[in-house]
Amino acid sequence: MLLPALFSRKRGHRHGPPPIFPKLRKGQICITWIGHASFLIQSHQGNILVDPNWANWLLVVRRLRHAGLAHHHLPSIDLVLITHAHFDHLNRRSLRRIAANQPIVVPSGVGDLVHGLGFEKVYEMKWWERLRFPGAAITFVPAKHWGARKVTDHHRGYGGYVIDMGGRTIYHAGDSGYFPGFREIGKKLHPEIALLPIGAYHGPKFGENHMDPEESLRAFEDLKAKVLIPMHFGTYRLSYEPLHEPPQRLMQEATRAGRLADVRFLIEGMPTLF
Ligand SMILES: [Zn+2]
Ligand SMILES: [Zn+2]
Repeated sequence: MLLPALFSRKRGHRHGPPPIFPKLRKGQICITWIGHASFLIQSHQGNILVDPNWANWLLVVRRLRHAGLAHHHLPSIDLVLITHAHFDHLNRRSLRRIAANQPIVVPSGVGDLVHGLGFEKVYEMKWWERLRFPGAAITFVPAKHWGARKVTDHHRGYGGYVIDMGGRTIYHAGDSGYFPGFREIGKKLHPEIALLPIGAYHGPKFGENHMDPEESLRAFEDLKAKVLIPMHFGTYRLSYEPLHEPPQRLMQEATRAGRLADVRFLIEGMPTLF
């Protein structure tokens, strides 16, 4: 399964010109998909990175698409959020490159992996805890997943973040299987824009802890969010489904459910206003 990937060229573009980030007014949010689960989320008050990862290899898994944005084209980053310690979400080399004495937030039990990389302060969070930073309040929320980076570490937490930036709320789900928690997150925190994983569902053990596209749409409806931004497909081959399958199935399901207009596929590296 991996061999053809070794010899094929990466898709997408290798760092083009730097993207043009719009000047944001109060109340505007700009979201840039870097690739896989990595996002830059901006408001007029600051810039947040979630699960930044430019790695070409995750152990033996090769990156199949270039990152949409080079790390040296990023604006200054005020805060970094990590959803869990899996290699596709926590990449120490990427973190070392962007660390510039800003705070970083990780799940409880994950702090040791980001110490000494150049962050000002490491915050560890448990589910439903809330932290205030200048320009953003962060709530760490549950997921149906697991946190171990190596087989033996059972102490590492995992989850998603609901980010409140001046009254606009963005939810990054990290990795999760479908579970009743989405309804609860929706009820408690009313996320407006939901960044939901739609890939890596086909394989032993994967199905329970990752969502297929139909489940992602159900999660979106449970959350009662207004916009669904799909992620976690097309960059790394982590399970057996064909790479093009998740977006196709999501489109079909959204059409069937009458929600196609609420699904926004972002172009990697393209800052998009909300
Ligand atoms: Zn994971
Ligand atoms: Zn993942």
